[in-house]
Amino acid sequence: MASGSAIQIPSRLPLLLTHEGVLLPGSTMRTSVDSPRNMQLVRSRLLKGTSLRSTIIGVIPNTSDPTSDSEELPSLHRIGTAALAVQVVGSNWPKPHYTLLVTGLCRFQILQLLKEKPYPVAEVEQLDRLEQFTNQHNKSEEELGELSEQFYKYAVQLVEMLDMSVPAVAKLRRLLDNLPREALPDILTSIIRTSNQEKLQILDAVRLEERFKMTIPLLVRQIEGLKLLQKTRKPKQDDDKRIVAIRPIRRINHIPSATEDEDEEGDHDDVVMLEKKIRTSSMSEQALKVCLKEIKRLKKMPQSMPEYALTRNYLELMVELPWNKSTKDRLEIRAARILLDNDHYAMEKLKKRVLEYLAVRQLKNNLKGPILCFVGPPGVGKTSVGRSIAKTLGREFHRIALGGVCDQSDIRGHRRTYVGSMPGRIINGLKTVGVNNPVFLLDEVDKLGKSLQGDPAAALLEVLDPEQNHSFTDHYLNVAFDLSQVLFIATANTTATIPPALLDRMEVIQVPGYTQEEKIEIAHRHLIPKQLEQHGLTPQQIQIPQVTTLDIITRYTREAGVRSLDRKLGAICRAVAVKVAEGQHKETKPDRAEVAEEEDCKEHITEDAKTDSISDTADLALPPEMPILIDFHALKDILGPPMYETEVSERLSQPGVAIGLAWTPLGGEIMFVEASRMDGEGQLTLTGQLGDVMKESAHLAISWLRSNAKRYQLTNASGSFDLLDNTDIHLHFPAGAVTKDGPSAGVTIVTCLASLFSGRLVCSDVAMTGEITLRGLVLPVGGIKDKVLAAHRAGLKRIIIPQRNEKDLEEIAVNVRQDLTFVMASCLDEVLNAAFDGGFSVKPIVEHLNSKL
Ligand code: ADP
Repeated sequence: MASGSAIQIPSRLPLLLTHEGVLLPGSTMRTSVDSPRNMQLVRSRLLKGTSLRSTIIGVIPNTSDPTSDSEELPSLHRIGTAALAVQVVGSNWPKPHYTLLVTGLCRFQILQLLKEKPYPVAEVEQLDRLEQFTNQHNKSEEELGELSEQFYKYAVQLVEMLDMSVPAVAKLRRLLDNLPREALPDILTSIIRTSNQEKLQILDAVRLEERFKMTIPLLVRQIEGLKLLQKTRKPKQDDDKRIVAIRPIRRINHIPSATEDEDEEGDHDDVVMLEKKIRTSSMSEQALKVCLKEIKRLKKMPQSMPEYALTRNYLELMVELPWNKSTKDRLEIRAARILLDNDHYAMEKLKKRVLEYLAVRQLKNNLKGPILCFVGPPGVGKTSVGRSIAKTLGREFHRIALGGVCDQSDIRGHRRTYVGSMPGRIINGLKTVGVNNPVFLLDEVDKLGKSLQGDPAAALLEVLDPEQNHSFTDHYLNVAFDLSQVLFIATANTTATIPPALLDRMEVIQVPGYTQEEKIEIAHRHLIPKQLEQHGLTPQQIQIPQVTTLDIITRYTREAGVRSLDRKLGAICRAVAVKVAEGQHKETKPDRAEVAEEEDCKEHITEDAKTDSISDTADLALPPEMPILIDFHALKDILGPPMYETEVSERLSQPGVAIGLAWTPLGGEIMFVEASRMDGEGQLTLTGQLGDVMKESAHLAISWLRSNAKRYQLTNASGSFDLLDNTDIHLHFPAGAVTKDGPSAGVTIVTCLASLFSGRLVCSDVAMTGEITLRGLVLPVGGIKDKVLAAHRAGLKRIIIPQRNEKDLEEIAVNVRQDLTFVMASCLDEVLNAAFDGGFSVKPIVEHLNSKL
């Protein structure tokens, strides 16, 4: 290709910034593209069009720090090479990237940057043109002629030192005579051993004369280097000459485009290395066979084939996998107990079960048997216990998030037939940990999805089945890998949505939510020390008293676990860190008003809001006093006003509202039920994302109330005991985004409606749960422990539960039980009696009216 002389490039070019090397006109470069900017360019410029060859891009060497591949466009090198993208190969492994094969056409210079995002586009001026060369010839023709002659001689000398039997070398020799002289400096610079810096200088040498001048010393250096090498190797066999001679060519990654097809040896060394690694690796016999076959194919494949990269990636993964590498288990039950205790407060039942599990496995000396599945709300330490188990065993730990996975190839990999295929998460995990016996935490197995791409649960079954998993076959690997040494642990929020076949393989261990007292202990023993460390703070700098922790727990969070609590503590530490840093720098404090406006969390972290009254001058002179005490005022400044304070009593300030207790996968929740009535035709409207069972409960509740209206003297607006006569009822379950279902709201709906029709308020500290029958009996329900904890968290005092759930109360910690009064109800009369102050007994109508007055 004549160096761009006959080429006319567009006046606007998209710019590809390369770190990997400097592309010169007339040569070809393979470059890997993975920055968002360059990926975007490839996608919209190179992949959208029908014909790849129609696209010319500007390749600009990126001279800025390669690690700072930030959003900001670095300052651009002014001169670049217009290039044809000859080939694009995409791959997703080890991370998404494209490999581009580009051929340099001619130099250009940037006149003006037209846009920066999503990738830069510039107005450019073409530099290497035929006329330009001719003009230059006119000016100093003689000098240039001399230079080019000199250059040509060196070039021939260099090429003749190489082994002509190598096709690429023979071709180069031919090219020297056939190519226009002005194209030679660029091409030879790309071939010989030069640094990127030197190449950049050649790129910048826009004037041909200068280019010849600069390249000659480089040629001379290479010739001298070769001579030296040949001298030292002389005594050896003739064969060596070839090796010596080829070396300069192998070393380069820029090859003249014209010789590209024949220079397939550029990567040859690497392939030989790869083969050696394969042969010495400890992979299974079957895998070895496959790999050797693949490497044979690889050797025959031209590098430019898309399959080349695919096959290489595959072989590299095969070599890297821990076929035979494992850590040595160390398990001493006593030490394990201590470690689990040290890392986790409370959760005695779980820790006991885990120790039993480990002990049995140790005695049996194998891992066969059900796998552990921790089930409980978020933030109760499931992952954390999994990590501790790995620690006690001295094994590597790896978490595999399954939430939302709905494609079986996520587990089992893609077949290696298309670009971008990858192994599944299991094999990827093994590669990451580098041993074949890690602890894998399968997180959120209850959130596996299903789709047209197959059922991931089925694939997971195969992974977990001890009868099958010693020869687990990932589609990408296509050979069996032994997973039998992996210790799998699963976590879930609920067992309800775990596919039954999967659940069958698991031993479920429930991890309930924490009580307030437990949370305080966890915060002070574990969360606060961890947060302090993360923020570089010491107990001498910040103090969080237990009352403050309790405030955070009750007023700023409402959760079963400790995740929000942990986050809030993090927010406090951040605010204090700013304060401490300010103090260290002895900066004067900014004006209060300013602070309040700009960063309300920085200021006022003082012990008392009264410090406001301290004179400003004194305040300015003092750095914050250590330790900074976080009290409620400080809390309000940092975290804002409390979120859960007044809600309950406010909402219960009118008739027709009652508090129920619901169980959700995230733990227990208190749930408001609201009712209102209006003139109408006896319709019942239900809102708030309800399931069918819940709707049935509502109908049951109305029916029961209608049939008992007379007994309770309940009337509608027109005084009729037929409550639905000319009346519509609307029942609403707020927090509409959460789907609610289950029969346990029955008693709450009855209470709410009783309140509506009697005009009496339900006690503001009562919560209830229980299924009802048409005859007014109260049936037991599930999740009592979580529900009671939720009521306790919300500060409620009296809890109405079905009589037959009484035994469940034993599971609840004594200190929680002490704070609460439980009412065991076996029929609705008892529920109503307990829900209203002074009871809800059958009263004559006059008395009832009086009591209302
Ligand atoms: P999960 O996996 O159940 O959602 P995590 O294991 O991620 O919860 O726990 C969240 C955070 O709370 C972690 O930092 C963990 O160490 C901490 N944590 C939870 N329970 C305890 C506990 N009983 N003792 C100490 N730290 C705990």
